[in-house]
Amino acid sequence: MVDWQQKIAPLQRLTIAPGQLQNQQISLNIQQQHYLSRVLRLRPGDRFIAMDGQGQWWLAQLQPGAEPAQVLETIPVQTELPVPVTLMAAPPKGNSFDEVVRQATELGVTTIVPVLSDRTLVNPSLQRLERWQRIAQEAAEQSERQVVPQILAPRPLKVWLQVQDWASCGRYFCVTRHPCPHLLDCLEAARQPGILVLTGPEGGWTEAEMQQAIVAGYQPVSLGCRILRAATAPLTALSLIAATLESSRGTLAKGGRVP
Ligand code: SAM
Repeated sequence: MVDWQQKIAPLQRLTIAPGQLQNQQISLNIQQQHYLSRVLRLRPGDRFIAMDGQGQWWLAQLQPGAEPAQVLETIPVQTELPVPVTLMAAPPKGNSFDEVVRQATELGVTTIVPVLSDRTLVNPSLQRLERWQRIAQEAAEQSERQVVPQILAPRPLKVWLQVQDWASCGRYFCVTRHPCPHLLDCLEAARQPGILVLTGPEGGWTEAEMQQAIVAGYQPVSLGCRILRAATAPLTALSLIAATLESSRGTLAKGGRVP
């Protein structure tokens, strides 16, 4: 039996678009050829891992002339959380959401949804969104994810609250200064086909926003007795979610898969 963890540990990862793979050959674009041969200094015959960002990994080999690369075999991996996890968050001002995107990707998030709330101070530009998508791709490669998280375009909170795609998920709404159950207790008590967690801006939610979220079916939750920064709260929530899903406190105790 192949020990894939040992076999692939030293190999570099490259995200490809699904259309680049045909008949076991990967057509590499100029940037990818530059990255593999100049940045990583791979030579013909060297191997790397190609990932499509949607769950598939392949062991690939550079050919003489660098292009196309040859697929040698499919790599059976499972590094994703057992259910999709969505982070809906109001980006703080400055660059701190860059790190939220990077670390949320490392923690296993599937989709990141920027929210414009009453007290949000920034409306991210298209360039900023593209930057976040690049950061998510790099972080997915580095953390050996199968899936590159998708970053959606920012919308006002009241628009996101009406989206029905998440209606079957456990939807948790992080609030300060209100008596409500801890997120961890809610996660342990439930088994859901997906999880969505919503965190607010530097200035917090308005009372009207809290009411809208509750009416839309979101469960208000606490992350503890201290006030966390707008960039800290999403990562705290995602750490609790990942730990619950992957530890014996969560999925395993409920008959889920071994990570
Ligand atoms: N002055 C604001 C307030 O009192 O709500 C602080 C907002 S905090 C910097 C930004 C966001 O992080 C909050 O809107 C909330 O979603 C989340 N957050 C921070 N600390 C939290 C905690 N202890 N429990 C739940 N959510 C928290």
